[in-house]
Amino acid sequence: MKKVLILGSTGSIGVNSLNVIREHPEKFVVAGLTANSNIDLLEKQIREFNPKVVSVRDKNNAEELAKRLDNSIEILSGDEGILTAVLNSDYDILIGAMVGFSGLLPTIEAIKKGKRIALANKETLVVAGEIVTGLVAEYNAEIIPVDSEHSAIYQCLIGENLKEVEKIILTASGGPFLNKEKSFFETATVAEALNHPNWKMGNKITIDSATMMNKGLEVIEAHWLFGLPAEKIEVVIHPQSIIHSLVQFQDGSIKAQLGLPDMKLPIQYALSFPERFNNSFIRTKLPSIQSFTFFEPDLNKFECLNLAYQALKNGGNSPCILNAANEVAVEKFLSGLIKFSDISKIINEALNKIEHQTNPNLDEIIECDKITRDFVKTNF
Ligand code: NDP
Ligand code: MG
Repeated sequence: MKKVLILGSTGSIGVNSLNVIREHPEKFVVAGLTANSNIDLLEKQIREFNPKVVSVRDKNNAEELAKRLDNSIEILSGDEGILTAVLNSDYDILIGAMVGFSGLLPTIEAIKKGKRIALANKETLVVAGEIVTGLVAEYNAEIIPVDSEHSAIYQCLIGENLKEVEKIILTASGGPFLNKEKSFFETATVAEALNHPNWKMGNKITIDSATMMNKGLEVIEAHWLFGLPAEKIEVVIHPQSIIHSLVQFQDGSIKAQLGLPDMKLPIQYALSFPERFNNSFIRTKLPSIQSFTFFEPDLNKFECLNLAYQALKNGGNSPCILNAANEVAVEKFLSGLIKFSDISKIINEALNKIEHQTNPNLDEIIECDKITRDFVKTNF
C-alpha cells in the first residue's frame, strides 16, 4: 500500500490522480490533499478519501473548511501549510499538481526527503532544473514525469542506453489556433483560447497550449529530465494527440508510446512504475482513429515556442524569466487586460530587459521570479 500526498488535488491533474487512486484501493491510499481555495470540491475529496493532512492556501477558506468538518481534522493554511504537509506528513509518493512557480519549494522539500515525485508541475523543472535534478541525485529521490509527452519518452527509454539516443520528438496537438493565421492572435478571445481541441486541463496550461508555450516549457522540462541538449529535442505537430512522443536512436529506429488523450494513464504509470497495473480505463481503438498526421511547427507564428528554445540555449536564469513573464502575461490575458498577441511580446521584452545570470542559486531564482513578475505587472 503506497501513501500518496497530492499537492493541487482540486485541479485537473489532482482530480485525475484521485480517479486513479479510486481505481486501485488495494494499492494506494491518500495521505494528504492540498488546494488553493476550492473548498467545496476539497470537502468532498476529504469525505471520500479521509486524508491525514489537509492544507488550503487561502486562510479564510481554510477556517471555513475546518468548520464544515466540525474541526475533526486540522486544516493547515498559507504557503507554509503546504510546506508543513510536505515536511511532516507520512507519505511515499508526492503528486506535484500545483500550477506554476508555486510548486517549486514544496517539490524541493519532498525531494530532500528522498521521496518519489510524480511530477506534473513542469514549471518546477523549467525554473530550477539544474538545482532540482542536483537535489534528486543528492537525496536519492526520484522524479517520474506525469506530463504525457515525458511519460511517453520515459517509457520509450526503458532498457535503452541514453548515449544511443539521436533525438527525442515531442508531439504537440497545436492547440485551438493551429490553423489560424498569425493576424488572428490580435483579436483571439479568452473563450477561443480556452477551447482546446483534445485535452480538458486547467486554464493556465490551456492558454499555454494555445500559444504553444506549453511545448516550449516541455522542451526545457525534457532537457532536465533526459539530459539532452536543445538540438536533440524536436517538436512535431500531431493533431490527433494519440502518439504522446517518440525517441529516435542512432541506428535510425524510432520508438513511440500511444494512448488516448487522458491523463489517468501517465499518472498511473508514475505511481505504479516499474510495474504496470491493470485498469478499466478506455482502450485506444486504432481503426477508429484512422489516420495520424504530422507536420513542423510554425515558429514564426508560435513565437513562444521559439522564445523557450532561446531561453534554454541561453541557460542561467533565462528559463525562470521566461516562465514568470509567461505566468503573469497569461493571468493578464485571462483577466482581459491584454491581447493574446501581447503574451509573446511581453515575454520577449522581459527576456531582453531583465539581467542575465549564468548560475543562479535557489534564492536568486526566487528573486528573479519576483523581479520578473514586478517588471511585467508594472510595465504592461
Ligand atoms: P489546475 O489549475 O486545474 O489545478 C491547479 C491546482 O493547484 C488546484 O488544486 C489549485 O487549487 C492548486 N493551486 C493553484 N495555485 C496554487 C497556489 N499558489 N498554491 C497552492 N495551490 C495552488 O491545473 P492543472 O491540473 O491543469 O495543472 C497542474 C500542473 O500540471 C501544471 O503545472 C500543468 O502545467 C501540469 N500539467 C497539467 C496537465 C493537464 O492535463 N491538466 C497535463 C500536463 C501537465 P484550487 O482548485 O483551489 O484553485
Ligand atoms: Mg504535456
